[in-house]
Formats: sequence, C-alpha cells, structure tokens
Amino acid sequence: MERTRKRRFIGDSLVDNSCINQYLKQTQKIYGDKLYLKINKASINNSSEEKLDKFYHSINNCKKCQLGNSRNNFVFGVGDKNADLLLVGEAPGEREDLEGVPFVGRAGKLLDKILAAISLSRDKGVYICNVLKCRPPDNRDPLLSEIEQCEPYLKEQINLIKPKLIVALGRVAAKTLLKNDLALKDMRLIKHDYYGTPLVATYHPAALLRNQNLKPAAWEDFKWIRNLIN
Ligand code: URA
Repeated sequence: MERTRKRRFIGDSLVDNSCINQYLKQTQKIYGDKLYLKINKASINNSSEEKLDKFYHSINNCKKCQLGNSRNNFVFGVGDKNADLLLVGEAPGEREDLEGVPFVGRAGKLLDKILAAISLSRDKGVYICNVLKCRPPDNRDPLLSEIEQCEPYLKEQINLIKPKLIVALGRVAAKTLLKNDLALKDMRLIKHDYYGTPLVATYHPAALLRNQNLKPAAWEDFKWIRNLIN
C-alpha cells in the first residue's frame, strides 16, 4: 500500500517532509545548529496587496447610492499598495469615470509633476484615491449621504495600506475627513488625526490650475509632506 507523503507550505511552495529534512541536514552541515531564516518582505506584504485586491472585487459593483447607476467605472484607487503616503481627492471627474483611474486629467498631470518634484510617483511610495469612488453628475459636490455610504471603503483602504500619512487634496476632501467646515487655509500646516493616522490638508491640484497664486503655498505643503514621511 502506498503511503501518502506529508506535505506542507514553506513560504509559497508546497514541499514534502523529506525535502525539508534534506534541506535541514544540508544547512546543518554548513551552518551548524543555528537556523537562519531569510524573511522576504515583498512576500509578507503581498498578503496586504492581495487583501486590497480582494476588497476591490468585493465592492466594485456597489449600488449603495444613486451614483452606482450613473457611473461608467467604479474608481477604486491607484498606486503602490504598500505606500507610506495616501493622497485622497474628492471624487472622480469625467476622465476618471471613463478610465476607472483617479487623477488622470489635467489636475492629475499637475499632481504627478508635484510628486516627481519631491522624488515620489504614483507607483513608488504613493497611493491615490478619492472620498467618493463614483462620479457625481456634472462634477457637483458630493452629497453628505454619498459620503456616508462611501467613507467605510476609504477607511478599509487605509486599514489595508497602512500609510504613514494621509494628505487630503482640497477643501471637500479635508472637511469630509476632518468633519469640520473650515476654509482650507485654516486646515493647512496642521498635523491632524484620522482614526489614528496623521493627516494633512493642502490645495487640490485643480485649484492650483485655476489660481497660480496658490502654488507657492502648495509647494511649501509638499516639502513639509516629504519631511513628514521621511
Ligand atoms: N479630482 C478629484 O478630486 N479626484 C480625481 O480623481 C480627479 C479630479
């Protein structure tokens, strides 16, 4: 009668016991009785990346509010799933709704330039998403009811990405996250707290396109942001 060999997972591979014994004997010959383990950070972090992907697939057909019926795409987020810096905008615009990716229009191009100026990019150390995952018709401001339905998704993204810092881009994102009604200038340059994660507020890149005079202040904010995550 054939005996079934016991097999177990080592890292990502299914290995049988005889392989493990052989490996341990060879290692013992070379290194003695101490066992050295090489921890692969990427494979540990993979599990949180997988969880974020799973989370996306569990919510991308959301119809909790009326925006679920008018959207072309559910715009979940983009970037480094192990990012230290999480940028949160307001809601997808027309281009974002069509492409399913946040900040791909003119404001997004400016945001990419600002990130490059502080040696960051949307695939390196940065994740970008919005308070709302679906486009409000005619780019109107998000309704409180829409924010209430959508905010748990953002909270779970934060929980899975575990950024060191959240940056609210623009007044709508900042007042939504901080639950206040202040002007953006009064929320800047303060380290706020969002359920245990530090949060700072700066101008929305679309505001910088509309008003060039805001650019020096935004540049100060982003230099400070760079320091905060270092
Ligand atoms: N403005 C936002 O707030 N978010 C986007 O994704 C695009 C424009």
